[in-house]
Amino acid sequence: MRCSFCEGAAIYRRPYEGVALCKACFLKDVEEKIRRTISKYDMLRFDDHLAVAVSGGKDSLAMLRILRKIERQFPKARLTAVTVDEGIRGYRAEAVKLAKKYCDELGVEHVVLSFQKLFGITLDVLVRSRKELSPCSYCGVLRRRAIHVGAKRARANKIATAHNLDDEVQTVLLNIFHGDAKRIARVEPVLVDPANRFLERIKPMCEIPEKETALYAYLTGIRFQSCPCPYLETALRNDIREMLNRIEQKHPGTKFTVFRSMERIRDYLKVSVPSIELKNCSECGEPTTQDICEVCKTLKGVVK
Ligand code: SF4
Ligand code: ZN
Repeated sequence: MRCSFCEGAAIYRRPYEGVALCKACFLKDVEEKIRRTISKYDMLRFDDHLAVAVSGGKDSLAMLRILRKIERQFPKARLTAVTVDEGIRGYRAEAVKLAKKYCDELGVEHVVLSFQKLFGITLDVLVRSRKELSPCSYCGVLRRRAIHVGAKRARANKIATAHNLDDEVQTVLLNIFHGDAKRIARVEPVLVDPANRFLERIKPMCEIPEKETALYAYLTGIRFQSCPCPYLETALRNDIREMLNRIEQKHPGTKFTVFRSMERIRDYLKVSVPSIELKNCSECGEPTTQDICEVCKTLKGVVK
């Protein structure tokens, strides 16, 4: 198999575009695609201080590598990696170590925050005391807050997360299956709070399929955490992931089609879904849609 661009030995066939790529062309192509996504959605400015959420997994480390390359071309831009240690025994310590090592290699400032220090409890202890929701639901709520706190402490003005194409399409379908119209409208590559209470969030990898972020990390020699989190949800998202992968294999390009369809209907949804009013949490003062924010609700009765 020859590379469709340079005639070199191809290592990867991309069914959704009907092309084959050699290692060099594949890496260049992924990086260029991310640059195009950044420019299409106007994600970055020349003087941004970007907080990059780095978990130690393949997606976030690959994104950090690419953003670092981009940042080097803009002398006024700055990067800070933010890693959250949720307190998951036998899992998170290794990821934090790998994230730290890679940040050192790239020369990127690295901030680590732990649930224990921020909220007074580890996820392991929390999930033993709280059983109403899944561990991932609690983890997601606290991690979002932790990343926001980390970004603010670093004085960043934006947050980049490593959601890839598969994550985005799964979330859209998950929201449809849950009948959650408000959330469907909010799954987008750039999230801006017009009232400026939350930092802007960008997803530079949202047009890269998961398979390709993994291959990018592998080909660039990134050491990432490969064992899954012990709490990884086996519920609906997994079924959706498997369903999408099956359809994608039979009908290449389906994930992109769902992503593009979402792009087209999002604007209509935004008009028909009333915008959410934010108030301040009566416990911690952070912005929320209810009287008490999700973080305080999660910790209530569990942490003094
Ligand atoms: Fe948290 Fe769930 Fe991810 Fe584990 S799999 S780190 S519990 S969100
Ligand atoms: Zn609160």
